[in-house]
Amino acid sequence: MRVHTLSLPNPYFEKDNNAYAIELGDGELALVDTGVDRPEAFRALVEGLARLGYAPQAVRFVLLTHKHLDHFGLAHRLKALSGATVYVHAQDLPDVVEFDGRYPRVHDQYAKRLRAWGVPEARIEPLRRTRDVFLKLGRSVPAEPLYDGQTIDLGRVELRALHTPGHTMGSACFLLGDRLFTGDHILPDYTPNVGATDLAAQGALTRYRASLQKLKELDGVRALPGHGRPIPDLNARIDEIVRHHDEREARILRILSDGRPRTVFEIARALFGELREHHVVLGCGEVFAHLEALEAREAVVGLEDGRYARR
Ligand SMILES: [Zn+2]
Ligand SMILES: [Zn+2]
Repeated sequence: MRVHTLSLPNPYFEKDNNAYAIELGDGELALVDTGVDRPEAFRALVEGLARLGYAPQAVRFVLLTHKHLDHFGLAHRLKALSGATVYVHAQDLPDVVEFDGRYPRVHDQYAKRLRAWGVPEARIEPLRRTRDVFLKLGRSVPAEPLYDGQTIDLGRVELRALHTPGHTMGSACFLLGDRLFTGDHILPDYTPNVGATDLAAQGALTRYRASLQKLKELDGVRALPGHGRPIPDLNARIDEIVRHHDEREARILRILSDGRPRTVFEIARALFGELREHHVVLGCGEVFAHLEALEAREAVVGLEDGRYARR
């Protein structure tokens, strides 16, 4: 089974994306993730496929690891060109299928939450412009729901979906023989954000930690992430990410150890320094996910005014 990495430019956030082309035989392909819906990413995708001897029309299946724009953005173009069947986990499906209708409302949902987190108004309004840019990086696409453990029949091969919620609630990894496509669940160079998506969901960090442990039993697989280089030792990387979250948790408790309650934004500033534009959302979301987990363990308490204090 031949699998090829296609690097797609993404100047908007994170880094360039990896899409993976799986050769299915009979001139057909499956694609894991797609990149943002911008001409330069689409061009890179088409050129990458051409180097392998394929046209976009050869893509029969598009497997999305999660609902973020840098992963599903181009799915609608591929579907229009080839009629490919698009799959995404059921919990991320609505935001992919109904993206065009839902995304314009996202700013107001975030603004409400950021205010509760103590973010000053002057930091919130500019985010509307960022959201307007993001809105152009994807389009709604019809897709089929995936569930944990489901086998996807790609013709000559089967691929297994593993639900790994945390980064988004519908994040999934795909197992193909001894390869594991990890999307943004596990990345080689930095820890994926937890807590800045799915604002209505609870316990993102606790779920994320459970999703890391779940992959430990796959010992020996070669992990192919949504950004960056392959991860040769998956379990070692999982241990690093767990340590990172343990350390961050300890830092948050230290910040609160002087007895003064703080807002999510104040803690995020103390941890990450100056937070610019979209990083306000990422940083605060991450801190909130930690506070939520710490509160569940009764290490901190959320006060009525939205601040948090040590117990
Ligand atoms: Zn992501
Ligand atoms: Zn990503």
